[in-house]
Amino acid sequence: MSTAQIGAGTPPETRSAARRRHDGVVAGLVKAYREVPAGTRVRLGKRTSNLFRFGAPTTEVVHLDTAGLAGVIEVDRESRTADVQGMCTYEDLVAATLPHGLMPLVVPQLKTITLGGAVTGLGIESTSFRHGLPHESVLEMDVLTPAGELVTAAATGEHADLYAAFANSYGTLGYALRIRIELQPVKKYVRLTHHRFRTAEEATEALGRFADQDFLDGTVFSPTEHYVSVGEFVDEPLPGARVSDYTGMDVFYRSLQTRPVDHLTTHDYLWRWDTDWFWCSRAFGVQVPAVRRLWPKRYRRSDVYRRLVALDQRYQASNTVRRRLGQPEEEMVIQDVEIPTGRLPEFLAEFHEHVGITPVWLCPLQLRGERTWPLYPMEPHTPYVNVGFWSSVPITRGATEEELADPTIRTKHNRFVEDLVARLDGHKSLYSTVHYDEAEFWERYNGAAYRAVKERYDPEGRVPDLYTKVGGGA
Ligand SMILES: Cc1cc2nc3c(=O)[nH]c(=O)nc-3n(C[C@H](O)[C@H](O)[C@H](O)COP(=O)(O)OP(=O)(O)OC[C@H]3O[C@@H](n4cnc5c(N)ncnc54)[C@H](O)[C@@H]3O)c2cc1C
Repeated sequence: MSTAQIGAGTPPETRSAARRRHDGVVAGLVKAYREVPAGTRVRLGKRTSNLFRFGAPTTEVVHLDTAGLAGVIEVDRESRTADVQGMCTYEDLVAATLPHGLMPLVVPQLKTITLGGAVTGLGIESTSFRHGLPHESVLEMDVLTPAGELVTAAATGEHADLYAAFANSYGTLGYALRIRIELQPVKKYVRLTHHRFRTAEEATEALGRFADQDFLDGTVFSPTEHYVSVGEFVDEPLPGARVSDYTGMDVFYRSLQTRPVDHLTTHDYLWRWDTDWFWCSRAFGVQVPAVRRLWPKRYRRSDVYRRLVALDQRYQASNTVRRRLGQPEEEMVIQDVEIPTGRLPEFLAEFHEHVGITPVWLCPLQLRGERTWPLYPMEPHTPYVNVGFWSSVPITRGATEEELADPTIRTKHNRFVEDLVARLDGHKSLYSTVHYDEAEFWERYNGAAYRAVKERYDPEGRVPDLYTKVGGGA
C-alpha cells in the first residue's frame, strides 16, 4: 500500500497526480535555471536554513523558486521507501511516514533540516551508530546539475560518480529535486535510560556497550558529568510510568540529570532536541520559567532561535553591547566534528581546557557497510563519535598580550578545534565556519575526487566550487 501527498497540509492525491504535479514543478525549475544568464550566481530560494555561515554573497544572485518542491511524493509501506522532494523538511517527512508506522533511518534533530540539505550537507542523529548518515539510505535521486541537465544518480549506473560525491558537496554538484530513501518501522514509544558517568573514559566505553539498542547519544555537562542516553522502541510505557512532554515547561536536556528512566512518544523523541535547540534556547532566556510561560509554544523551535541568531550576527548586536559595557567580544564556536571513538577522551580533555563550552553533545556513528564516500573520508567498520558544541567564547580567553594584538584572535578557538581534530585523525563537518587554507582543505576533503566530478557536471564553472562556497561565504 502507498500514499501520495505532495505538500504538508494538502489533501492526499493519487499517486499519478502527485507525480504529475512534481514533474510539472521540476520542468518549471529546470527551465528557470537554464534561463539564468551565464555568470549570474544561483541559490535555492528556501525559507529556512541550518547553515551557520552568515556572509553575504558579493555578486548578484538569482533565487530559484523551490516552493513546489517541499513535499513527500509517495510513501510505500510494502517496500519501506519514500519518494521525497528535495526541499522537504524532516518535520514534514516524519509527519508523512509516522502514520504508516515508518520513519527515515536517520532523522536529524532540527525540524527544518531538509532531506536535500542533510544528504548534501551531511546529517546525523542517535540512530547513526546503526544506520550511518542520511545519504547512506538514499536509493536514487534526481539532480539538476550545474550544467542544467536533469539526471538520476544511484549507487550504480551512469551517474554513480555523482551519487558518491554528492554527500558533503553542499549543492556545488547540483540540486537534488527528488530523493528515494529507505524507511524503518517504528513503535509507538521510546523508552530512554540515561546512564551517568564521571569520566570521559567510562562514557566512551559505554558508547560501545549499547550497540544493540535502537538509539544512542550522549551529553557532557562538565569534565566530571557525562550521560549516555539509550533509547529503545516499546509498544507501551512501563506500568505506572509517565510519558514526558518537553514542549511545555520542562526542558529535555535538564531531564537527563533528574529522570534516569523516561518515556516519550516516538514523535516527541525525534524532536526532543528541537524545542530548545538542544540547550541553545537558554541564550534567549527561554528556559527561565517566567519567560518560557510567555514565549508562545509555537515559537519554541530551532528555526525561530536560528533566525534570532542570524539577526544578531548581521548587526553584531551582542558584540556591540559587550564593547559598550567594556566586556570582551565573543567568538562563535559552532561546530560538529567526528572523532575516532578511542580518541574521544583526549578530545574532550583538550576541548575543556582550551575552549570550555558546555554542554557538549556526543553522537556515535559508523558507516553502514563497506561503502565509503569520497568527500567525507571515514573508515568502514570504525566507530566515530560526533561531538557538537554550539556557543560563544570570550576572544580574550587564555590569550596572551601578543595574541590580542593579532587580528586572527577572532577565530582562535575555531582554529584550535580544526588543529585538534586533525591531530586526532578526525573530520569536521562544513555547515559552519571553515578556516583551513585552500591546500589543506582539498587535502582533507579529497580535492582530486571532487575535481573529477565537478568537471564532468559543471564544465563551465557555473557554480562555485566547494572550497569557495564553504570557506569563502559564497
Ligand atoms: C547549531 C547546529 C546544530 C546542528 N546539529 C545538527 C545535528 O545535530 N544533526 C544534523 O544532522 N545536522 C545538524 N546541523 C547541520 C545541518 O544538518 C546542516 O547544516 C544541513 O546541511 C542543513 O540542511 P538544510 O536543509 O537546513 O539546508 P540549507 O541550510 O538550506 O543548505 C545547506 C547546504 O545544502 C545545500 N542544499 C540544500 N538543499 C539542497 C538540495 N536539495 N540539493 C543540493 N544541495 C542542497 C545548500 O545549497 C547549502 O549549501 C546543525 C547545524 C547547526 C547550525
